[in-house]
Amino acid sequence: MTQTVVPDSAAGVPVKHEIYWRETEPVVPGPPLREDVRCDVAIIGGGYTGMWTAFFLKQAEPSLEIHILEAEFAGAGGSGHNDGFMTPTIGHSLGALIHRFGPERAKLAYSVVGKSMLELRRFCSKYNVDAGFEPTGYFQVASNRHQMRLLERDIDLVHSLGGSGTIELLDAAQARERIDSPAIHGAFKVGGALINPHRLSRGLYRVVTEMGVHVHESTRVTAMRETGGEHVLTTPHARVTAPNVLLATNAYQHQFAAFRHKVVPVWSYAAVTQPLTDAQLKMVHWPEREGFVEAGNFIVFGRLTTDNRLLFGGGRATYHYKRDMDEGKHIANAKATMTLRRVLARYFPQWRDVPFSHAYGGCVAITREMVPHVGSMGNGVFYAHGYCGNGISVTHTAGKSLRDLILRRDTAYSNLLFVNGAEKGFPPEPVSYLGSKAVTSLLAVQDRFPNIIRAQIV
Ligand SMILES: Cc1cc2nc3c(=O)[nH]c(=O)nc-3n(C[C@H](O)[C@H](O)[C@H](O)COP(=O)(O)OP(=O)(O)OC[C@H]3O[C@@H](n4cnc5c(N)ncnc54)[C@H](O)[C@@H]3O)c2cc1C
Repeated sequence: MTQTVVPDSAAGVPVKHEIYWRETEPVVPGPPLREDVRCDVAIIGGGYTGMWTAFFLKQAEPSLEIHILEAEFAGAGGSGHNDGFMTPTIGHSLGALIHRFGPERAKLAYSVVGKSMLELRRFCSKYNVDAGFEPTGYFQVASNRHQMRLLERDIDLVHSLGGSGTIELLDAAQARERIDSPAIHGAFKVGGALINPHRLSRGLYRVVTEMGVHVHESTRVTAMRETGGEHVLTTPHARVTAPNVLLATNAYQHQFAAFRHKVVPVWSYAAVTQPLTDAQLKMVHWPEREGFVEAGNFIVFGRLTTDNRLLFGGGRATYHYKRDMDEGKHIANAKATMTLRRVLARYFPQWRDVPFSHAYGGCVAITREMVPHVGSMGNGVFYAHGYCGNGISVTHTAGKSLRDLILRRDTAYSNLLFVNGAEKGFPPEPVSYLGSKAVTSLLAVQDRFPNIIRAQIV
């Protein structure tokens, strides 16, 4: 869907409200499933979670018949849409994780997600997946004194977990040697990588298909019922029957009754510039091309793409009444784009007039505890959701947990902190909507006046 409006007053150039990444590898969705199928494992959702689970299951038990049912195309959700920061973060933040699970379990989880990051890189080279992998890591940055204190707190948390080495907090002058932005007052480096998320999705789709997993694109599951110890999934043209079903729809997970109030979709916006010319690139000293993420409630983030566009995002996250995820209504958001234009001028005054070519939003899945939930419902139904905007590496780890849950294996992965934990819900509408409005306003005010409102979400 293309809409063009002109919120980008800097340039007077039309902006496409389409996901930039999709232009890097156009997709023609495959045909829908047309014949009834009986299989060992049926997976609803062809994003990273569904596809990594299929990948690890097929590696462990090559004879398993696995069918993935995807409403649009593999990577149509957050997996092909995200900003491409591959981070070690589980859920919203390390603070939230330690608060809920304690340091020992948090440390174990961080070590396996760290392993996933290494394996993701190896996967791309082994299977020739050109996901634009740049193993630069990224900077957590502060743009005011309050955020500097948050960086210090985060460094203390990491050190309290007893990881190897120490993390150095860079002051403004040191940080500007890495990324020359007058908005950055301090920073510390986090390991990770920048990727092209859509190309990772499409590469993973190719690999699992070659392994013998059946991926049915254009196949939306419209109903699910249990009968005789099996689950029957209805799609527009055919039914799928399986003893094991994985609900892997993340931000869309509220469509299933059991999760209606457990996960909410929150819109996050980004804008992408036209490719920067060599002369424009030289205006900002950024020698190692690391991404950066600001330590506010509503984060600001930026990174370069492999074709030297600046992807710049963040601002106030928005929840729409009754979990509205309609892209036709919300992918374009002139107010969000104008905010990004303003923040870009603050971060990179040198690039204040560089036109945006794309501006778009997508839905991040948030849970009440701000941590993901992966588990078994005990009747052959499994689930994973709530990555809180940090899913590239955690979905890989979750895929291993789901493999072991589905194969009924008791392993370290099937006992990770996010597996089978109690899950609080959000209140029904209209309380959820009104509550989210109040909370986002409070958090936005706190970002603007951090010394007046000190209450902090973990
Ligand atoms: C705007 C945005 C920016 C993000 N930035 C980052 C980032 O920089 N770093 C990071 O680590 N994470 C980021 N994330 C989070 C990350 O993208 C997700 O956590 C991850 O992609 C979740 O993968 P998934 O497979 O669980 O869900 P998804 O990729 O959303 O896959 C779910 C799939 O289910 C399908 N589906 C839904 N309903 C049905 C149905 N009834 N029948 C069949 N199919 C159905 C959808 O079409 C979709 O393809 C971001 C997310 C968004 C939205």
